[in-house]
Amino acid sequence: MAAALSVETAARGAKQPAVLEFLKSGPKKLLINGKFVPAKSGKTFESINPANEEVLALVAEGGKADVDEAVKAARKAFEEGKWARVGPHQRAKYLFKIAELIDQHADELAELESLDNGKALTQARAIDIPAAAETFRYYAGWCSKIYGETNPSDPSMFNYTLREPVGVCGQIIPWNFPLLMASWKLAPALACGNTAILKPAEQTSLTALRLGELIVEAGLPDGVVNIITGFGPGAGSAIAEHPDIDKVAFTGSGEVGRLILQASAGNLKKVSLELGGKSPNIIFPDAEMEAAVPNAMMGVFYNSGQVCCAGTRIFVQRDIYDKFVDQLTKYTEGMTMGDPLDPKTKMGPVVSKEQFDRVNGYLDIGKQEGARVTTGGELGNGKGYYVKPTIFVDVNNDMRIAREEIFGPVAAAIPFKDENDAVFQGNNTSYGLAAAVWTRDVSRAHKVARALKAGTVWINCYGMIDPISPFGGYKQSGFGRELGKYAIDLYTQVKTVFMKL
Ligand code: NAP
Ligand code: MG
Repeated sequence: MAAALSVETAARGAKQPAVLEFLKSGPKKLLINGKFVPAKSGKTFESINPANEEVLALVAEGGKADVDEAVKAARKAFEEGKWARVGPHQRAKYLFKIAELIDQHADELAELESLDNGKALTQARAIDIPAAAETFRYYAGWCSKIYGETNPSDPSMFNYTLREPVGVCGQIIPWNFPLLMASWKLAPALACGNTAILKPAEQTSLTALRLGELIVEAGLPDGVVNIITGFGPGAGSAIAEHPDIDKVAFTGSGEVGRLILQASAGNLKKVSLELGGKSPNIIFPDAEMEAAVPNAMMGVFYNSGQVCCAGTRIFVQRDIYDKFVDQLTKYTEGMTMGDPLDPKTKMGPVVSKEQFDRVNGYLDIGKQEGARVTTGGELGNGKGYYVKPTIFVDVNNDMRIAREEIFGPVAAAIPFKDENDAVFQGNNTSYGLAAAVWTRDVSRAHKVARALKAGTVWINCYGMIDPISPFGGYKQSGFGRELGKYAIDLYTQVKTVFMKL
């Protein structure tokens, strides 16, 4: 159990006055119908700084009754046309405004994200926050570019299609990129004219709530965006089951993805799922090693390995295996783990005690399975949920550390014989979120990219994501594509109109 709430202790090292003010302004509330309100139950829960295990804030524990209120507000806003029938240029203006406010508050949001999630401040500032703004800006552009079609049907008919919003959208997100995931969900839903109920992960509610304040400041009509903080069973399940929610978009574990799908059956909600991965990163002997090694390292350890598309299975051609893992180990030993607020830090703690224990469990499993640790393999000393970046070598693709999503800083290096073997082993997984291939042979690069069963393939790079390009999974990594024009499909439905001439 964490100690009593003391913002000074929990947020020590924080420099942004606005962050301290936000944290000190009392328990965080739900956003329903344009107002911040406590949970009907009056209950709150603690948000912990994973770097020091202290309580950063108390957060309202929303439940079914609160979700009901939020759905009523979102339904009303939707049906009254407060948002869907606002002109596209005006809707775009609101989304541009949200992007601008995120940019204006970037230092503050980055620090809040770092405190709440444990990620390195420099990375939150360089990636999470600007990417969140960019996502809103990208979808602001879509508001005025969502077209129907005229169809060449019988000459006695005028036949066309309309692309209409789906309605009230429930959006349940994880803790690994809290503000960015909120943006991936809200921006396209809003661009298409939907209203939304967002549930952040219990571990990391704070930047979503701050975003809620910015959305209110941007002047969006009441009820268009509602934010219900709370637990999965409770707030999350109430969203998944709700008979008046038209669509649920979820990012998180496969286990919860299955529950969402089952719960959606009641009113046959539309569902999109972005689940985990066990992505292969395949290194051929002709790869440019100076780039492949550090990128393989960041591909797996970025954000303490808590990335759904992390390159956790590093496949290295047998002839260069020893040399490659040697270099990878050396680089990894030079990676600075520590206080997320320190500008030198490349890797902070994992997000929670639960995740810390889970990752630690996999360190034991790997050792028991006979894999060998070249670096890491243990926890940090002292306070905070630190796990040392760990490389397991002599891994075979059947081991649990090569099959199960660990979601921590743990790499499995696996040798392969030739191109066919690399593709076979790479695809030999129940997941299919992402993959990468490193080679100077252009033809091989494209052949392998085609053969890999994954929603994204990187060639000679790792982890590139752009709101312009679709992102999502093959196989058990989920279905539906977020980002790009594909998210417009997720958040619209098509109506055919026939008129007799
Ligand atoms: P999770 O349980 O899948 O959490 C994701 C979101 O779903 C959270 O907002 C969570 O709420 C909510 N949720 C939980 N149970 C629910 C339910 N019955 N109905 C509706 N919503 C529900 O993930 P986790 O427990 O935080 O992490 C477990 C593992 O999931 C990780 O180790 C990792 O392997 C995987 N994961 C994957 C991703 C990804 O990006 N693909 C992200 C996070 C985790 P609360 O957390 O607030 O209870
Ligand atoms: Mg959970």
